[in-house]
Amino acid sequence: MKRKSGQDRAITKNWKPATLAVRGGTARSEYGETSEALFLTSGYCYDRAEDAAARFAGDQVGMTYSRLQNPTVEMLEQRIALLEGAEACRATATGMAAMTAALLCQLSAGDHVVAAKAAFGSCRWLTDTLLPKFGIATTTIDARDTDAWEAAVQSNTKVFFFETPANPTMDVVDIAAVCAIAKAHGITTVVDNAFASPALQRPMEFGADVVAYSATKMMDGQGRVLAGAICGTRDWIDTVLLPFHRNTGPTLSAFNAWVVLKGLETLDLRIRRQSENALKVAAFLEARLPKVLYPGLESHPQHALAMRQMEMAGPIFSLYVGGGRQEAHGLLNALQLVDISNNIGDSRSLMTHPASTTHFGMAEAARLEVGITEDMLRLNVGLEDADDVIADFDQALRAIGR
Ligand SMILES: *Cc1c(COP(=O)(O)O)cnc(C)c1O
Repeated sequence: MKRKSGQDRAITKNWKPATLAVRGGTARSEYGETSEALFLTSGYCYDRAEDAAARFAGDQVGMTYSRLQNPTVEMLEQRIALLEGAEACRATATGMAAMTAALLCQLSAGDHVVAAKAAFGSCRWLTDTLLPKFGIATTTIDARDTDAWEAAVQSNTKVFFFETPANPTMDVVDIAAVCAIAKAHGITTVVDNAFASPALQRPMEFGADVVAYSATKMMDGQGRVLAGAICGTRDWIDTVLLPFHRNTGPTLSAFNAWVVLKGLETLDLRIRRQSENALKVAAFLEARLPKVLYPGLESHPQHALAMRQMEMAGPIFSLYVGGGRQEAHGLLNALQLVDISNNIGDSRSLMTHPASTTHFGMAEAARLEVGITEDMLRLNVGLEDADDVIADFDQALRAIGR
């Protein structure tokens, strides 16, 4: 490996997150390429049959097959681990592959999971539908209520699972308090950190055991590829996750890993500017609408907690238009700059109606219970000039008579 390798912990030790996001994990080939190389290969060749045998036996370092290892994917895994402050990371094809693997790799029939009620729709499907099918019991709670976590613990509880801020209700979970309860009971905490990214919030600093990502969101950040990642201790990744990951194969493609590597180079810049823009747009909308839920606004009931855990509040928030679906769809249809799209973390401003899109699969009663009403919209504020986004909302609100 070349000089200045971003994989040498002795060199990267004191680097700050913005530096790690650009250089962490970089390993150069014999050509000394500046930008990380894209290794589009499914397999690897060996000089001698004995080398193949030694690699399979684990006696020789080296790659054997891209479901197991790939140089480009490994660079991404190392960069994410460094950003997270984790010992190790394993990349996955999507965020949902990360959530599914992070849960299933450590659970067996007869185990119990406590999970947040307010969660990404597919995460709720895992806890409500998939896990129970395999004899794993689940309890969903109001994750903002720290006492509810303690009260839900059973003798067979193995995992706590939550996201903060949560999609799309912007519930904030007290990471340190919930992880302390888990530790006291020998429970593993899995945090879905998609909304914040490691640039704004590092759950392991508050005691989380496992941090899982949709890298599709802030990490790619430009709406191009799907990707996911799971971070943990070296021992947990190697002994608990790897046997599951290698044999079930939710592996990230080298091409998508390369795109996310390029995305990470600008993560710090993007998320800070998007957070600034989101605060401006949220403040404007708060004055014009019945309710805006953004942890960056003082009006958010958990503003102080959010700001203790996060450096900035991120690009995403929810707004309530008043009325019902007709009013919410009316505002969406009147926008000229902001796109109607259910993706988030993108450099473009995108807005969606969760009840009819991302959370359509959730039972209506469950939606209402967590506050996903028919007049709720979820906005991702992009990198456009905030004044242009505000002007678009201003014209759209006037167009619908507000
Ligand atoms: C998008 C998202 C996921 C799923 O990620 P994919 O990359 O779309 O599979 C999981 N959790 C949260 C909080 C998300 O926003």
